[in-house]
Amino acid sequence: MKQLIVRKKAANQIKKGSPLIRIDDLAQELTYHEGDIVSVIDEKQHFLGTAYVGTQNKGIAWIFSKEKNATLTEEFFQELFRQAFNHRQSLIQDETTNAFRLFNGEGDGFGGVTVDSYDGYLVFSWYSEGVYMYRELILTACLHSVEGIKGIYEKIRFQSDLDISCFVGGTKAPEPLIVKENNVQYATYLNEGLMTGIFLDQRDVRRLLMEKYSAGKTVLNTFSYTGAFSVASAMGGAVHTTSVDVAKRSLSKTKEQFMVNGLDVENQNIYVMDVFEYIKYASRKGITFDVVVVDPPSFARTKKRTFSVAKDYATLVEELVPLVQQGGMLVLSTNAANVSTKEFDGMIEKGMRLSGRNYRILHKLSLPEDFPTAPHTAVSDYLKIRFIQLDY
Ligand code: SAH
Repeated sequence: MKQLIVRKKAANQIKKGSPLIRIDDLAQELTYHEGDIVSVIDEKQHFLGTAYVGTQNKGIAWIFSKEKNATLTEEFFQELFRQAFNHRQSLIQDETTNAFRLFNGEGDGFGGVTVDSYDGYLVFSWYSEGVYMYRELILTACLHSVEGIKGIYEKIRFQSDLDISCFVGGTKAPEPLIVKENNVQYATYLNEGLMTGIFLDQRDVRRLLMEKYSAGKTVLNTFSYTGAFSVASAMGGAVHTTSVDVAKRSLSKTKEQFMVNGLDVENQNIYVMDVFEYIKYASRKGITFDVVVVDPPSFARTKKRTFSVAKDYATLVEELVPLVQQGGMLVLSTNAANVSTKEFDGMIEKGMRLSGRNYRILHKLSLPEDFPTAPHTAVSDYLKIRFIQLDY
């Protein structure tokens, strides 16, 4: 079997349980190919684990077994799927929610692939050419171990000539497919590009917003996409919501999300607009809100400027604070894997200091229970959310 020799620091992380190998972890240059099964060893030739090669943004290989000469078999994947299914029993039994992550890559024992369930329609996301080579095995194992599968879709999240989204088999989902989350309905489209209309990892945030901080409030949702935070707020009793997203599709998609919940769309503002332009507009008009939600993409380029969480979040916070009413609330979120929790809190601190208003953090949230992470693998624990009360 081929060997991957890793440096001491990486070897220590692996011994603590991290399954990830990054290009910089390699102690020597080797030739390896996507899908190769390799023995991972340290510089003193100690065996660390068996991995497969799959190059994606997080790294180049994932350890999947601590055994020597381990192989990838249908039984192996069946066992992982059974465990993943068992770990999610509370969600599976929960009659108020039917959209969740069924298998979260490395957090469930095998990096490079995730599986989401939308009311029994599964969406596989393949993150590397390497993992895609085991596609048949993984799909078959899933079909043989998970109950109640209605249909299968897949997303290709690596460079290739394949369609980025495709229906694989079973029955096709209706379009839109209406899913439920804490009794809120969301319209999803399982075969439109990489995104489906809802980010499942924000379930806990939508719930907290809906149950505790929306009743009687005005809510501004920036970078709103299909308006999921706005809809959750309205369902929680918000008197009015404003959604702002630069993408044209967001207008009809957001209207649809309100409509499928029987909410009055006329009572909501939906702007197709650059958030930074909206901030200027609202400041000029003196418009303020009880709650302002901020969940930007890690990186975005519009005609006028580029935005990156790592560089610009503090400024974004500073610019948004004047839109928050006295004693109001900011919900700050990022999914930027390249920004640590500590750095994120530092940016918030800086933005708030520049804004000149004092604050306290009411809640710190991260990924929900169906998005388990691998030990000592910071990139898998990407989601960071802070509920902040101003003028405390
Ligand atoms: N908060 C959303 C997800 C946001 S996805 C949710 O939980 O559902 C990021 C969104 O930001 C995309 O819809 C994209 O169109 C939008 N976006 C990116 N740059 C923007 C900008 N400068 N102004 C407004 N929207 C922007």
